[in-house]
Amino acid sequence: AKAGGRGRVAVFSPELGASQRRRLTLERELREALLRDQFQVLYQPQVDIASWRIVGAEALIRWNHPKLGMVSPVEFIPLAEESGLINNIGAWVLARACSDIQGPLAGLHVAVNCSAVQLQRPGFVNELEQLMRAHQVPPDTLEIEVTESLLMENLSTALENLHAIKALGLRVALDDFGTGYSSLAYLRRFPFDKLKIDRAFIRELITTSDARAIVRTILNLAKILGMDTVAEGVEEPAQLEVLARNGCASIQGFLVARPMPAEDLATMVRDWVPFRTP
Ligand code: C2E
Ligand code: CA
Ligand code: CA
Ligand code: CA
Repeated sequence: AKAGGRGRVAVFSPELGASQRRRLTLERELREALLRDQFQVLYQPQVDIASWRIVGAEALIRWNHPKLGMVSPVEFIPLAEESGLINNIGAWVLARACSDIQGPLAGLHVAVNCSAVQLQRPGFVNELEQLMRAHQVPPDTLEIEVTESLLMENLSTALENLHAIKALGLRVALDDFGTGYSSLAYLRRFPFDKLKIDRAFIRELITTSDARAIVRTILNLAKILGMDTVAEGVEEPAQLEVLARNGCASIQGFLVARPMPAEDLATMVRDWVPFRTP
């Protein structure tokens, strides 16, 4: 007879599915990954459309697993959030970024992704401040990127922290804008300086009129609210064209470059010619 539900899986399938096994392995090994120096931070340049200069870069973590190879942050960040390990990993990324700002990335703005889990910890800003002081990082070179999801769960601490981050002189960007359930509510409640238009809209910018209308609306909204804008995932000149025509401030995407090590970005910035070839 069929017992149904979860029990049935346990009784009739002694082996866990491959994806469940992988998840357990990753969860277990995530902790050691920090100690064993398996993480790396890559940087993807952001280009100002009007001047065509490289104005900043987004820090993106990589996990180089000894057996599994590169594990995507899309896979391991949620696991790190569940276990709370994201606080340690996030602090490591911030320290890495601070040290690169004082090294190869001098003169660039660096945006660091911060999980809502980190933002909901009361001690977060204090640690951030100490880190920046230790590395002597000018506050306006660092930007914090936050996604909409989860922020509302512990609203008051997150709000307090975001205001404290801004009081330190850092900029705060709302990541993946337009994909959450309550985008507009977030804009009213949180002190964001910048909107990052999600890649999902940019991908369809040329092919579907809906996406184009949404992007235009987001750009207008940002303008009215006095917010800076970045379009993510720009891969084609035609997308850049539409974004430029509609007043988007800057772009990030494979059209300019893929994420790369800090030293490579330094070389790219050094050799960069601020003219766009058609
Ligand atoms: P995100 O913050 O939206 O980052 C942008 C993602 O789009 C990156 O993927 C980047 O490599 C990719 N991308 C950039 N340009 C293009 C393009 O033109 N085409 C395509 N197809 N993709 C492009 P990545 O590095 O795999 O990161 C995925 C997500 O993982 C990030 O999405 C972010 O949510 C999270 N993440 C990455 N690093 C960190 C971190 O240090 N901390 C936290 N909390 N999350 C991170
Ligand atoms: Ca981001
Ligand atoms: Ca994003
Ligand atoms: Ca994303």
